[in-house]
Amino acid sequence: LRGHRHLPADNRSWPVARIYAEATALAQDLLAEIGQPLLGVGVAVPGAVNGASEIVRAPNLPRLAGQRPAEQLAATLSIDDVLVENEANLGALARLWAAPSAGRDFVYVSGEIGVGAGVVVNGRLFRGVHGFAGELGHVVVDRNGPPCGCGGRGCVEQYAGQDVLVRTAGQRDLAGVEAAVQRENRRAIEAVEQAGAALGVGLSSLLNVIDVPMVVLGGLYSRLFETITPALTAELSRRVLSSRQATGQVRRSSLGIDAAVRGAAGLIVDRALTEPDRLLAAAGPTYRISASSGS
Ligand SMILES: [Zn+2]
Repeated sequence: LRGHRHLPADNRSWPVARIYAEATALAQDLLAEIGQPLLGVGVAVPGAVNGASEIVRAPNLPRLAGQRPAEQLAATLSIDDVLVENEANLGALARLWAAPSAGRDFVYVSGEIGVGAGVVVNGRLFRGVHGFAGELGHVVVDRNGPPCGCGGRGCVEQYAGQDVLVRTAGQRDLAGVEAAVQRENRRAIEAVEQAGAALGVGLSSLLNVIDVPMVVLGGLYSRLFETITPALTAELSRRVLSSRQATGQVRRSSLGIDAAVRGAAGLIVDRALTEPDRLLAAAGPTYRISASSGS
């Protein structure tokens, strides 16, 4: 890792132009510090991204629907290669690339304001036809439950998303929940356990459909891993059919809040490895060579 910038922000109320402006400023600031040629830009977004790099749906950032961040950022950062992917999918890829021996079949669960999942089967990310695969946050726990930003009711996100968790725990933010759990505050612990149970119910449905043996918890769930896991695994062992054949594993992501960022950087590196001419192009015209195909 050559450089790193972290700008915590709740950008749900920001106009789209401000989101682009802040992201561009952050990237330019970091580039100025590193002073290295730029191979490409990977962008993680909390929404479904289709094959044309368009954000087709983002329930928690509805203003981003229909946006094409690759085009916007390519123009402002003056670079051709900008790749956009769902943040849970990138978290899953980061896990796959960082620890390939740890398993080729797993669900990476990203807990943020929204809840997403990246599904990896046989070492490959399963994106679905429209980029919607792994929308764990909108798997239904109770069909008559509270309304959700997606238009449905009783989705996992309404029980295990960050906003609900913080509110139920009687805290202002996630750091407050963590601190309260550390102090063994009963209300906070119960809120985390309730979130874990709901997540376990939703995750059971997903695991019963795709039959993979491992769950990797990322985002806020990795921060609250010890407290959330018992309630979650209790639901999994009760509901996941394959758990009668073999014990599934629930693991903590070691990449923390950097998972999606590392996955986004990995997208660019991965493409350069399959298309090495990109490396030479990024190094500058002096090193450019041309390749011809043999017969
Ligand atoms: Zn929903």
